[in-house]
Amino acid sequence: MADFKLDKVVIYGVGLIGGSFALALKQSSAVGEVVGLGRSSASLEVAQGLGVIDRVGELADVRDADLVLLAMPVGKMEAVMAAIAPHLGDKTIVVDAGSTKQDVVAAAQRAFGNKLAQFVPCHPIAGAEKSGASAAHARLYIDKRVIVTPLQENTPFAIAIAEAAWTVCGGDVSVMTPAQHDAVFAAVSHLPHLLAFTLVDALAKRPDAAELFANAGAGFRDFTRIASSNPEMWRDICVANRSALIAEVDQYMTALLQARVLLAEADAEGLESTFANAREARNAWLEPLEK
Ligand code: NAD
Repeated sequence: MADFKLDKVVIYGVGLIGGSFALALKQSSAVGEVVGLGRSSASLEVAQGLGVIDRVGELADVRDADLVLLAMPVGKMEAVMAAIAPHLGDKTIVVDAGSTKQDVVAAAQRAFGNKLAQFVPCHPIAGAEKSGASAAHARLYIDKRVIVTPLQENTPFAIAIAEAAWTVCGGDVSVMTPAQHDAVFAAVSHLPHLLAFTLVDALAKRPDAAELFANAGAGFRDFTRIASSNPEMWRDICVANRSALIAEVDQYMTALLQARVLLAEADAEGLESTFANAREARNAWLEPLEK
C-alpha cells in the first residue's frame, strides 16, 4: 500500500464517515488534495477549518478527481449521483459509504446511465453515534471490515481502486452481493438500532419518564447508546431496507414472545438457558475483536 496515492479525492457529504475517510487518506499520505462538497457551506467551512478537507469545491471538481466518495444519508444518494453524473470524467471512480446496498445500487443504475461501471458500492462497518465533520478521526477504519458489493459492470481497475482506498485507510475489505449485505445488516445493525430508538422513545413518552431516566444505570446506557445516532440517517436506512428489516422484527418478536412465555411460567431453567446461550455466543464473537 506504500505506493498507493490518489492526486485528488472529492468527498461529497463531509460528516463522520466522509471526514474520517479524508483524514485517514491524509494520515497515510495517500492523497494529494481533498475537496469537500455537500449541502451546507457552513459545515464544509467547519470541515476545512478542522483540516478535514483542503478546500470547498463545486460540482465541476469531480471531472478530474481520481476518486469521489458519497457519504450522505442513503435517501439522498440518487439526487447527488444524478447531479455529479454529467460532470464525471472517464477516469474518475465513485464509491459510496451507505449502510444499505440494494437501494443505492438501484439509484446508481438510474442516475449514472452509461457511467455505471465507474461506481463501486461500498459500506465501511465503522461508525459511531456521533455525526458531523467534528466527530471525524483518522483511525475510524483501522481494522474495521469494509464490505464491497461490486457491480457486474465494474472493471477490475475500478474495484481495485475502491478496495485499495479503503485498505490504505486501515480497513479490511470483504466482498458480498448487495442482497446478502442487506440481509446480514438488517439483523446485526438495523434491527438493534430500531430496538434502541423505539425503546427510548416509548419510555420517554410515559408519564413517569423523568423518574425512569433518573434511575437508569449503566446497562440502560450501554443498550441505548446507538439511540443517540443521527435520526435522519437511520430513517433512510430503515426505509431503504424495510423488507429485510421487517423480517428481522418478526423473528425478534417471536423470540420476545417465547421469552414472555418463559417469564409467565416462571420457567427459570428456560430463561437461564436462553441467557447462557446468548452470553456464550456474545463472548465468542467478542474474543477475536478484543485481541
Ligand atoms: P453525518 O451526519 O456525520 O454526515 C452526513 C453528511 O452528509 C453531512 O456532512 C451532511 O451535511 C451531508 N448531507 C446530508 N444531506 C445531504 C445532501 N442532500 N446532499 C449533500 N450532502 C448531504 O453521517 P455519517 O455518519 O457520516 O453517515 C454518512 C453515510 O455513511 C450514510 O449513508 C450512512 O448510512 C453511512 N454510514 C454511517 C455509519 C455510522 O455509524 N455513522 C457507518 C457506516 C456507514
